[in-house]
Amino acid sequence: MMNAHTITGRLLRVTGVVQGVGFRPFVYRLAARHSLAGWVRNVAGTVEIHVEGGSTELDVFEHELQTEAPPFARINALELVPATPAGALDFRIVESADADGIRPVTPDLAMCAECEAELFDPANRRFRHPFITCTNCGPRYTVIRSLPYDRERTSMSVFPTCPRCDVEYHTPTDRRHHAETVACPKCGPRVWLAQADGISLTEGDAAIRVAGAQLRLGRIIAIRGIGGFHLACDATNDIAVRRLRERKHRDAKPFAVMVRSIDEARNLGVVSAQEALLLGGAERPVVLLENAVGSRVAPSVSPGLDRVGVMIAYTPLHSLLLDEVGRPLVMTSGNLSDEPIAIENDEARSRLGDIADLFLLHDREILSRVDDSVARVVDNAPVLLRRARGYAPLTLRLPVSSPRTLLAVGPHLKNTFTLVRGNAAHVSPHIGDLDSIESLEHFRAALARYEQLFRIAPEVAVRDLHPGYLSTRVAEDLGLDRTIAVQHHHAHIAAVAAEHGVTTSVVGLAFDGTGLGDDGHVWGAEALVADLSGYRRAAHFRYVPLPGGDLAAREPWRVALGYLSLEPGIADEFALAFSGIKSEGRVIAERQIERRFNAPLASSMGRLFDAASAILGIRQRASYEGQAAMELEALAGAQPAEPLTLPLRESGDFLVLDPVPLLAALGEQRQRGVDAGLLAARFHESVVRAAAAVAIIVADGAGIDTVALGGGSFQNARLLSGVRARLEARGIRVLVPRQLGPNDGAISFGQAAVAASLLSRED
Ligand code: ZN
Ligand code: ZN
Ligand code: FE
Repeated sequence: MMNAHTITGRLLRVTGVVQGVGFRPFVYRLAARHSLAGWVRNVAGTVEIHVEGGSTELDVFEHELQTEAPPFARINALELVPATPAGALDFRIVESADADGIRPVTPDLAMCAECEAELFDPANRRFRHPFITCTNCGPRYTVIRSLPYDRERTSMSVFPTCPRCDVEYHTPTDRRHHAETVACPKCGPRVWLAQADGISLTEGDAAIRVAGAQLRLGRIIAIRGIGGFHLACDATNDIAVRRLRERKHRDAKPFAVMVRSIDEARNLGVVSAQEALLLGGAERPVVLLENAVGSRVAPSVSPGLDRVGVMIAYTPLHSLLLDEVGRPLVMTSGNLSDEPIAIENDEARSRLGDIADLFLLHDREILSRVDDSVARVVDNAPVLLRRARGYAPLTLRLPVSSPRTLLAVGPHLKNTFTLVRGNAAHVSPHIGDLDSIESLEHFRAALARYEQLFRIAPEVAVRDLHPGYLSTRVAEDLGLDRTIAVQHHHAHIAAVAAEHGVTTSVVGLAFDGTGLGDDGHVWGAEALVADLSGYRRAAHFRYVPLPGGDLAAREPWRVALGYLSLEPGIADEFALAFSGIKSEGRVIAERQIERRFNAPLASSMGRLFDAASAILGIRQRASYEGQAAMELEALAGAQPAEPLTLPLRESGDFLVLDPVPLLAALGEQRQRGVDAGLLAARFHESVVRAAAAVAIIVADGAGIDTVALGGGSFQNARLLSGVRARLEARGIRVLVPRQLGPNDGAISFGQAAVAASLLSRED
């Protein structure tokens, strides 16, 4: 029998959220507490612990490893392997590299509870210090200049630590042991309040107090944060919110709201257990919550919607400010409509000078521009709508390794790019719509940082089929010896399949606004049979001409007119879509359809939602893409409804779903006085059933048992949840976007997965 004092060894492999959350220092302290020797290191996304000592101590160590892990850590799996003791004399944190010789870059982490307690503790030396951080929390990606992650290579390098911070940094038992961002009021960054002309009004704690008082008075303040500037105002003050909309040129697109705690979030929205986890996690995304009854948030924050985007304060500066204001704050990106967010003090003052009354500034440089992330919970699991701060950078494994390094430049809207070496795919944070010089500069700057951080020089460029996109020009301008073009919806489905490690054929339902198809028409409501290398289009929604082209995405009545041109006999049913539309504009649009001039044919799910919205008399013009669809989802709510007819027919090689009878029925019933919400629910139900039915037919025909759902339309919870439930009820495995979300933010990863697969076949 083994003596309790015999030294044995164990190797523990921990996977989950375990890097950059203070896990290794925690392991160090735990080992020290039990006088165990060995080492801990990060290895390619896992933490590897070699530990040796008495078996009783090892058991306790293993138990406490799981029960006492740092607040933001999440252990998904703990693998245990017996190991030969190496005769280690002490316990060490060993610097480590992943397979490519590159250590992963950690995302920015929200302030932890311990730091927050210190922040509001008058006896603590960091009382009200707006840059308090520790090993478990604080900025990472946005302050890292280059690797390895040491203070000298971050934007904290200009703030030499004072003797007391230095001691904490070097004391193994201190919770700031090896905290590269450690700082205090003596040695850390400063905050001050300035006017647009640069004149500083006050600094330090007074700056925060004055800013708080000004916010209470209805002023708009630009606040420098972690990944860029926010524009803030009192979210309960409708006049202030509307003033912000006017100055920012943003009519109706919802604003995010920041509160201090989950309890405060409950005053604004209904918070489920899963939503509470998402709200309070280290990533701190904006979470779309169902409006709470009696919410004090001004109606102009998210007009026409049943949800409000809420995030919990994630920096000490935010917490201090919210504590001062005592009300929820609108916190929207510091930009003019769709431009990239400002990150530099001077840049912010010049670009936001006409929007903000005051500027709350600090002198910790932001090295990477990152917006707030946005998520919602569907079927008890998070769905990412925008993957940025807290989630970036993200490295995903490709199921098929690429023999050459790749740059996938992503799509036109909601752009991200992906850099690939081997099977490691480094996906950039959300860049935005690539339709201006500013956004192109943002793209290039982010790419340069990624190439430097991950030390990848791409050999092959991957782009969309569309020859006219700026992203395509970027890809061609790189002058690489090879460029691969990938169809947009194939990329959507490949992204979902690759995320789940699936390389076999799947049926893909790709539902979104727009993407160029291989027949030259606009696609967006497709059923594909696809694997990573290729696809066959099996079914689609009936083509409709979109008079005015891109303009149709902003003017739902145009889509309705397009559908009407297919069946002119149903003009009466469509009447609500055109009430109040000037006949002049309508005549021009009709001519565009007749002459097939600037009226591309489209099978877009996004546009189908738009048409339904117009025909129900809900919205004829939208002030942002997706507005009509979001309002339709809000109106439908969760009320049960019977579907209307949405026939499927064969047309040549394809199955075609014809939504015209559905649209006509909606219009007819609405005009008979049937409730618009009920009809919105019927519309959802009809699309859900038709989509699930067509997926089942295609899957049966191809002998496939897996369906992947991709494309921005699956941000609609009722659509995602409904299609999934119907397919699963038939025993079909359903792949849902998790890491990257359903929308075009996933396209660059899908492009990369396709290119890697194609190149590996050539080898
Ligand atoms: Zn902390
Ligand atoms: Zn200090
Ligand atoms: Fe798309």
